[in-house]
Amino acid sequence: MTAQKIIFHIDFDSFFASVEQQYNPKLRNKPLGVTAANSRTCIIASSREAKRLGIKTGDRSYEAQKICPNLKLISADFNKYFEISKKFLNICKDYSPFTELFSIDEVFMDVTLTTHLFNGTFNMINLMKLRIREEIGEYITASFGISHNKLLAKLGSGMDKPNGITEITPEDVLKVYRTAKLTDICGIGERIKRRLNDIGIDNLIQLRNASLQLLVKEFGKVEGHFLKRVGLGIDESEVIPYTQPQAVKSVGRSYCLPKNEQDKRIVLQNLYELCEEVGIKLRRLGKKGKTIGLGLNGSVYIKMRKTFREYVDTGSQIFNLVFPFIEKDLEKQQYVRQIHIWVSGLEEKEKLTLSLFDLEGKKDRIANAIDKLNDKFGDHTIRNGFLLYADKLTTVPNGYLADRYERNKLSSEF
Ligand SMILES: [Mg+2]
Repeated sequence: MTAQKIIFHIDFDSFFASVEQQYNPKLRNKPLGVTAANSRTCIIASSREAKRLGIKTGDRSYEAQKICPNLKLISADFNKYFEISKKFLNICKDYSPFTELFSIDEVFMDVTLTTHLFNGTFNMINLMKLRIREEIGEYITASFGISHNKLLAKLGSGMDKPNGITEITPEDVLKVYRTAKLTDICGIGERIKRRLNDIGIDNLIQLRNASLQLLVKEFGKVEGHFLKRVGLGIDESEVIPYTQPQAVKSVGRSYCLPKNEQDKRIVLQNLYELCEEVGIKLRRLGKKGKTIGLGLNGSVYIKMRKTFREYVDTGSQIFNLVFPFIEKDLEKQQYVRQIHIWVSGLEEKEKLTLSLFDLEGKKDRIANAIDKLNDKFGDHTIRNGFLLYADKLTTVPNGYLADRYERNKLSSEF
């Protein structure tokens, strides 16, 4: 039998808001809402003081200000947050080389081989907390979950916020599952929760007792097995060190428009620009893809996913392939709020046979020239003529570190 692993999940508390409060002491001890950089209509993070009043991620700013008239609003500054993330990873690497960057404010660590060097798990965590305070700031805290796998470590870090330490041993699982909610589990969102409710599963104990057969019937093989393992508290996935780049299987971009957009032209301009960004990502990776997916969320949800004959890596190719599939549906859409576009079925560009006609080669050369300028002066310096009169999009991702491309890019900066 292999020895049990020791896994940490570390989650910063009210991260964006705490960072802002760290930088600007005048904001401390006050209810604060951090809004998306492109719009002040929606709160993407709230300070612990605002949370206490019930203001949470996703709330509309004007509604939050009704609850709390002196709520301060501040635009997100992702560069600041990335800097803090980097500082934190630098601390982590002194405690274990097996540190995985899970999101901008969360890491997993496998400390199985190193805890003994620090006099045990709790001592190690206290040392890390001390360094957070000294090297990152006294106003920034993190909560630690400890367990024998990632699933339960992540569940643990959310159980005693802020600044908590929660251990879940194999003997504790049942006790924890009696009180935790389905949505406390990473991977179970509101949609899956509702579908579980529909088949009579309202809590983690019922999920634990549900038959694999039932889950597979409702959710399909992959998700059904995942849910069964969640029920049993099993997770064998490894902590993947951030220094080890992951194979990118798909690249995409998600964008939340500043308002419910009724103007179809603006929707298409934004879609086009996101296609361009996906194209840039593909070319930076030296890959082309042939499966394209698109989701437009608004008055209704439009989605398409199709595998095409040709491999593509430019924004205009991607746009031209998806547009015919959504043209009709878009007319029925009263407004659009969110756009998600992705390309998968990736292949190394070099492995793909060269097109018989040099047309392709010429397109590649144009795209390369544009990429060079954009690398030098920032994305979107050179944009397609169609977009000339549109507002320049901010490239600040609102689904930060949403895909492996983003994570690898951040990791490569260390
Ligand atoms: Mg957090």
